[in-house]
Amino acid sequence: MVSALSAPHFHNEEAAYEYVEARIWPQGPVCPHCGGVERISKMQGKSTRIGAYKCYQCRKPFTVKIGTIFEASHVPMNIWLQAMYLIAGSKKGISSNQLHRTLGVTLKTAWFMSHRIREAMASSSDRIMGGNGGEVEADETFLGNKKEAKVGASYHHKMKVFSLVERRTGVARSFVIDKVNAAEIGPIVARNVSTETRLMTDEASHYLSIGKPFLTHEVVKHGLGEYVRGERHTNTVEGFFSIFKRGMRGIYQHCSEKHLHRYLSEFDFRYTNRAACGVNDKDRADIALAGIVGKRLTYQTTGKA
Ligand SMILES: [Zn+2]
Repeated sequence: MVSALSAPHFHNEEAAYEYVEARIWPQGPVCPHCGGVERISKMQGKSTRIGAYKCYQCRKPFTVKIGTIFEASHVPMNIWLQAMYLIAGSKKGISSNQLHRTLGVTLKTAWFMSHRIREAMASSSDRIMGGNGGEVEADETFLGNKKEAKVGASYHHKMKVFSLVERRTGVARSFVIDKVNAAEIGPIVARNVSTETRLMTDEASHYLSIGKPFLTHEVVKHGLGEYVRGERHTNTVEGFFSIFKRGMRGIYQHCSEKHLHRYLSEFDFRYTNRAACGVNDKDRADIALAGIVGKRLTYQTTGKA
C-alpha cells in the first residue's frame, strides 16, 4: 500500500516546484515578464531561491509562482500542494482550522490559502450547458442568515443560491442571488443554458417565463408530493445542494455573503470533477492546480499569506 501523501512533491520543495512547473509550463519555462521562452536558465548556487530562473532576454529572474495564486506567498510549495490535495479530496471541504492543525501553518495563513485555492477552483469556462436535447436542472436554495436581516417572508434573511446542473456531464454552476425571481434568475439561465435543452425545474412561478424559450420546460410539482416522473425531476441539483449544505453547516459554519461565491466555486469544482464523473483525488488536485494561473486579480482581495 502506498499513501497518496507519500509522493515527493508533498515533502520536498524542489520536487514540488518541478511538479508545478511540469503542469504550468508543459513546453518548458516561460518568462512572465517578457513572454520569452528561449534564453532562460535555471539559477544555481546555494543562496539561490528554489525554483528561480533567469531570463536573458529581459534579464529578470522569476519562478513559476509569478502570476499564480501562489505569488507573494511564503508558504513552501509542497505545503501548498498538500493543502490543494486535502481541499480537492474532501467531499464536504476542509476547514481553515483543520488545515492550520494539519499543515502547521497559522490559522490566518490557512484561511488565505483556502481562499486562494478556491480561486484556482473557480471555473473560467464559458461553455454553454445543455444543447442537443440534453437535460439541465435548475433550482435554488437558502443558507444561513444574512447580516442585514430583513423582515417579511422567512427566507428573506437567508443567503440565496441558484444552481444549474447539466445531467450528461455532471457539471454544476452556482450563483449567489439577491432575490428569487425571474428578473434575477432569468438572465443567468439565458447566459448559461442553450435553448435546445430540456430544462427541469420545480413548479415555482418564476420558472414559467424563464422556461419558455427552451426545447421543453419540464416541471416537477413538489407541492403535489411529486418528485420523479421518468426523466422529469430535479434530484440531481437537489443532490448537489445536499452536499453543499452539509459542507457549509458541518465544515464552514461561519460564512458571510461576501465570501459565499468562493465556497460555491469550491463545491461546484468538486461536484463537477467528482469520482462518479471518473475523476480520482489525484486528478482532481491536478485539475485545481491547472487553475492557479491568471487568478491574481481576484485573489488579491483576500490579502496576503
Ligand atoms: Zn524575460
